[in-house]
Amino acid sequence: MKKNKLPSRCENFSEWYNQMVIKAELADYAPVRGCMVVRPYRWALWENIQSSPYSQALDYRQAHTHSPSDYNSLIEALKNGWGFSLWCGSAECEAKVKEDTKATTRCIPLNQPGEEGNCIVYGKPAKLKVYFARAY
Ligand SMILES: [Zn+2]
Repeated sequence: MKKNKLPSRCENFSEWYNQMVIKAELADYAPVRGCMVVRPYRWALWENIQSSPYSQALDYRQAHTHSPSDYNSLIEALKNGWGFSLWCGSAECEAKVKEDTKATTRCIPLNQPGEEGNCIVYGKPAKLKVYFARAY
């Protein structure tokens, strides 16, 4: 490998990252083996580099997440995004959503909003609020 050429991210992500931050003068090796130090005034730049893609992804997710109130609205929401709805947890309901939209439950948030109501599919009692979406 040439000394001035970065390895590709695919072949060695860790080495690519370390060399990239050194060459960009964002950080340098510390006197303690295995440690790096962030150079002065680089932290704000570093945070901007990281936060921009994160905030873009968050904005995209928020713009494409819907809270449908009935099954037909869920089907509509799943054409171009995610549906955040109450679900009873049954495989039968998930299979119905998959049959009608090709979407499945993608995420069951650990921090549930604490809502109770009826499952968006067949109306059984439900406590879980989940994200339905199509796989990529
Ligand atoms: Zn259900």
